[in-house]
Amino acid sequence: MTSDELYPADRLEKVREAADAAGLDAVLLTPGPDLRYVIGYDAKQLERLTCLAVPAGSDPVLFVPRLELAAAQASPAGALALEMVPWDETDDPFALVAGRLGAVSRVGVSDRMWALSVLKFRDALPGARLALAGGALRTLRIRKSPAEVAALREAGAAIDRVHAQVAGWLRPGLTERAVGSVITESILAEGHATVDFVIVGSGPNAASPHHEVSDRVMAAGDVVVVDIGGTMPSGYCSDSTRTYALGEPPAEFTAYYKVLYDAQEAACAAVRPGVTAESVDAAAREPITRAGFGAAFIHRTGHGIGLEAHEDPYIVAGNREPLEPGMAFSVEPGIYPGPHGARIEDIVVCTQDGAERLNHTPRELVIAG
Ligand code: ZN
Ligand code: ZN
Ligand code: ZN
Repeated sequence: MTSDELYPADRLEKVREAADAAGLDAVLLTPGPDLRYVIGYDAKQLERLTCLAVPAGSDPVLFVPRLELAAAQASPAGALALEMVPWDETDDPFALVAGRLGAVSRVGVSDRMWALSVLKFRDALPGARLALAGGALRTLRIRKSPAEVAALREAGAAIDRVHAQVAGWLRPGLTERAVGSVITESILAEGHATVDFVIVGSGPNAASPHHEVSDRVMAAGDVVVVDIGGTMPSGYCSDSTRTYALGEPPAEFTAYYKVLYDAQEAACAAVRPGVTAESVDAAAREPITRAGFGAAFIHRTGHGIGLEAHEDPYIVAGNREPLEPGMAFSVEPGIYPGPHGARIEDIVVCTQDGAERLNHTPRELVIAG
């Protein structure tokens, strides 16, 4: 997909409409996923203010430090009909933004705006109440366009190429850290722009879902949970987990791994338009609970993914939001009874009549080493 398919020019107008519908007089977006979503500019978050102002009643403006202007113009934002206002080192950029906005009473700020900027905007806009812009933006970001789905598919294929090699790298006698650094290089080599996380949880560490890597030396009979992800040059993220065993795993592990496999299948099969996010969580949880491992499934079933590795919709009890075509999220049940554990994670996209999985490496327990 081209960058104008991924970051189409009508997003500025859609954000303006969403801000208006949310009762905001303006939205202020500093560097982060919201800004990138709206204008395609992957701006650096710096102490110098870069800020896209989208007023409900006038044209949007991008305020940039003068030394960042060339980078802003070279980004997809440069192809938009968007006024860019460079500010100089001795200017007060917060006063410039406030002056352009004029009288405003409710202003949405991006969820990831630094407190440093939020408090300066509070002083520069004394008549305005600041609110989070995320609520207005989520309605747009939560449904992925065909180009966004294609970008996520590309990210899924890239992380699959890494997982396809992991079994060959896991060996008794190596530390988690050593294997983790090979995986880190491979995530980049397979096309990601950045590595977001590398979890190599072996032996008892497999029972800690967000363990990263340690100096633990892997041994025969270990189970190893490998959960990895990165961000592609498109801006879109990958995230996939597979569980490996170094030789024959303990019998009780093999028994609950089968339960986990069936639970992940059931949850993926439950995905279709109109079903609630929480019902997908229930579809994963029910077989695990029935087998007696309910207390060992200690996290939600999944999270949305896109320009952020974790975003809406969250696949969790209490989220009654109905799924819609274009929603992309992980389906990643886990069972962590100790002294080992397991997780299987795919990214799926809700389609017109079901789900498309974006990860395709085998989900059966992979015997390595
Ligand atoms: Zn996680
Ligand atoms: Zn993951
Ligand atoms: Zn995940």
